[in-house]
Amino acid sequence: MPMYEFTCKTCGTEFEELCTSVEAEAGKVECPECGAKKAVKRLSTFASTGGGAGGSDRGCGSAGFG
Ligand SMILES: [Zn+2]
Repeated sequence: MPMYEFTCKTCGTEFEELCTSVEAEAGKVECPECGAKKAVKRLSTFASTGGGAGGSDRGCGSAGFG
């Protein structure tokens, strides 16, 4: 199973969870902090473990959210 990053819409906690893409999309992921099933999948789980030809390391700002 892939690991996805989530942000809880209730309390704002960011966490990672191993689950299927179906579960991730269906909102079945429970927030470890408040227990609400309001976590939204973040779009940032691309390969970040080396192997790149350089220049792929952008600063993580507020891109892609909001
Ligand atoms: Zn929460």
